[in-house]
Amino acid sequence: MKSPFHVMIIPTLGCPSRCHYCWSSDEGSPIMSIETVREIAAWLKDYRSDQVTITFHGGEPLLAGAEFYRQALPILSGALARLAPTFALQSNLWLLTPEMAKIFAEYHIPIGSSIDGPEAITDAQRGKGYYQKTMRGYEIATANGLEVRFICTFTNKSVEQKEEIVNFFLKSGFPLKLHPALPSLRSENPKEWALEPEEYGKLLVYLLDTYLENLGKIEIMNINDLCKCIFTRHGTVCTFVDCMGTTLAVGPDGSIYPCYRFVGMPEYVMGNVRDRPTQEDLARSDAWKLMHAFKDYVDRECAGCAHIRYCRGGCPYNAIAPTNGEVRGVDPHCTAYKRIFDEITDRLNSEMFGSADMGMGGFGPRSRRKGKPGIMAILQTMATK
Ligand code: SF4
Ligand code: SF4
Repeated sequence: MKSPFHVMIIPTLGCPSRCHYCWSSDEGSPIMSIETVREIAAWLKDYRSDQVTITFHGGEPLLAGAEFYRQALPILSGALARLAPTFALQSNLWLLTPEMAKIFAEYHIPIGSSIDGPEAITDAQRGKGYYQKTMRGYEIATANGLEVRFICTFTNKSVEQKEEIVNFFLKSGFPLKLHPALPSLRSENPKEWALEPEEYGKLLVYLLDTYLENLGKIEIMNINDLCKCIFTRHGTVCTFVDCMGTTLAVGPDGSIYPCYRFVGMPEYVMGNVRDRPTQEDLARSDAWKLMHAFKDYVDRECAGCAHIRYCRGGCPYNAIAPTNGEVRGVDPHCTAYKRIFDEITDRLNSEMFGSADMGMGGFGPRSRRKGKPGIMAILQTMATK
């Protein structure tokens, strides 16, 4: 079976927004040149033979302008035709114009954007005017037939208003994809907005209950993914698979990193597209070795965990970036992952096998408690979509 292969292109780390908890934008970041896009295409065409998904990410990728995409998309889709590339975009949409939207529509590009709930909550976390600017872009995107989904970042402040936030998504009909605010390594007070792992775990259980109460009325993508992980015994999002090697990112100057989260951190550069590195070349870099040291660490440290097959220690960035590149632990969100994986496992076992296992095996070795039914309903809802 061929592996999924995901390449993130970061045209710039610059961003016109000033979200309070941002950990990645960089005001002085240059914009990628079209020559670098050509180098990316020339490198990727011989790098692997798997189907490739290319996501334009940032910073804010629309800062590159319409002309960048008018040239970049045909260059990439033409040179990589053998890899059947599909494209995606992650953007706050402030700079989206009808001209750009038409270019993206031509390539059927789905858009991930970000709002944190109702206008007042979004603007309190992301800056005054953010919500309206994103919604203007949303109107342009949908008027041109583009599909937009929103990531909702929960901080240690907005989690207090979780009911209001979920109601907003419920009423607006937007699917909800939750993102926990990470400690910002560029801030003097990195934990000012970060959602603590225990709170994150509680929030996931709350979202599971809310989802079950409103099944068919709202889609909560994280809960879908978590249920799918347990049912298939395999991670279905990057956090819960060994992402090393199957995900790469290219920064504005053509530098290659393990993931967009590391872009702009020189110690994580694995090579540059202009040198056309092979997988073997990248594997000789310190960053590649560090990512694999994390994988080996997870194999040892999580060996006794019931969820290791579909958790894989969580996100390596979360684990190693705050410790300056030392592998000292798994993803600090482990507490949250265990909490929600246990909850779903118990409920699924209870639904499938009753409160007792009856010798039929089941999902995970934990002792079984009676729980609310409903996980099967989530799986069925996903299957019928
Ligand atoms: S480092 Fe984290 S965010 Fe990046 S691909 Fe891996 S799991 Fe996903
Ligand atoms: S839940 Fe925690 S202990 Fe279990 S596999 Fe994930 S990171 Fe490791």
